[in-house]
Amino acid sequence: MARATSSGKCIFCGGTVGKSAMTRHLTTCKLRPPEPAQALSRRRRPTQLYHLVVSSRYAPMYWLHLEAASNATLDDLDDFLRRTWLECCGHLSAFRLGGRAFSSSGADWSWGDDQDLDARLGELLAPGVTLSYEYDFGTTTDLVVKVVGQRDGLTSDQEITLLAGNHPPAIPCESCAQAAARVCTQCVFEGGGWLCKACARKHACGQDMLLPVVNSPRVGMCGYNGPGLAI
Ligand SMILES: [Zn+2]
Ligand SMILES: [Zn+2]
Ligand SMILES: [Zn+2]
Ligand SMILES: [Zn+2]
Repeated sequence: MARATSSGKCIFCGGTVGKSAMTRHLTTCKLRPPEPAQALSRRRRPTQLYHLVVSSRYAPMYWLHLEAASNATLDDLDDFLRRTWLECCGHLSAFRLGGRAFSSSGADWSWGDDQDLDARLGELLAPGVTLSYEYDFGTTTDLVVKVVGQRDGLTSDQEITLLAGNHPPAIPCESCAQAAARVCTQCVFEGGGWLCKACARKHACGQDMLLPVVNSPRVGMCGYNGPGLAI
């Protein structure tokens, strides 16, 4: 699988910027709207905003830059990640920070001393802190959430917003090198199974094993068929 592409798009100016250069770009982007100097209404109160970089642990060409308000919860972040990148069949998920674990609860699930996802980000995060995250404890997608900045801002209706994300990586078809459009959920575990539409029709494992190639670290896993990040 091709790993070269690690550039992404700033959603404010549309500019193409590399993953780590994006942190600085987002603090200087001329088209990013400035925060109003003071709260404009009771619904927009002063708060702390965290700049988060979320990356796939084993496929780091998939990344997001997010901004999250300090009163957002781990549940809000879990929800955002599921909607953007992960949700296939309502699997369980967990965040870890130091020795602490926070997990989504299932009906017949208990995991020792885990706390639930109600904790607010403001109680856990500060610049330099790194959270690990797992979605699905069977076919796991592992993410790393790093706090790269913090600033004064105002609350808004959206507690977590997207600032930037990676462009879809260029993944060639394993048979003909055209762009892959399907991935075989069986062959992907041997590092292959990436196929263009034409080659996918002839794939030996059968059509039932194929999933669409989408811009997400969960591509090809379990039953994940998107949407992935549209950017
Ligand atoms: Zn920009
Ligand atoms: Zn699933
Ligand atoms: Zn092909
Ligand atoms: Zn296959």
